[in-house]
Amino acid sequence: MLNIVLFGPPGAGKGTQSERLIEKYGLVHLSTGDIFRANIKGETELGTLAKSYMDQGQLVPDSVTIDMLRSEVVKHESPRGFIFDGFPRTNAQAEALDVFLNELGTGISVMLALEVEENELKTRLLKRAEVSGRADDANPEVIEKRIHVYNQETAPVKSFYHAQNKFISINGIGSIDEITNRLFQEIDSI
Ligand code: ADP
Repeated sequence: MLNIVLFGPPGAGKGTQSERLIEKYGLVHLSTGDIFRANIKGETELGTLAKSYMDQGQLVPDSVTIDMLRSEVVKHESPRGFIFDGFPRTNAQAEALDVFLNELGTGISVMLALEVEENELKTRLLKRAEVSGRADDANPEVIEKRIHVYNQETAPVKSFYHAQNKFISINGIGSIDEITNRLFQEIDSI
């Protein structure tokens, strides 16, 4: 299986690039942000809980997120692989992911980390707010908080994959096509 962690700060382009990757490699796309938003829309209990964190730019607690992700993974029968978008966001999530992929007889092939500097992220998120309707994109304070949480809790996950020799940094600045080609090149040379 080809299991990719597509990593990067809020606004790095994970969602956009995931679309390209699933098309080319026939992978199952699991975006924790999208799953939470679908639950919010469906007014589920999980949605109500997730919303209370997301609206403030905080992470949804690990226990909730890990259980949800696990239940999504096992829904798919003999997939070609997964692209994890927005997960793992903490070291505890990364450890849990290893454990349950291992139980399925597989593991993470690579982490592709999109690198984009902070000012560019802020510009992109405010621009996305105009079309996404996402409250967490429209509020500059919430954006600051998300970037802060990324730096504190999420960026350390890079070291987790670095230690397993699975970490690849990708320049996330350029046209969408240019960045897609950088990702394709790395994946094709695995
Ligand atoms: P972005 O990467 O642009 O911030 P996402 O859609 O990936 O957007 O995430 C939106 C919000 O959903 C996050 O700010 C967080 O509150 C919540 N979330 C998504 N994935 C996770 C996760 N793996 N762990 C905890 N919270 C998460």
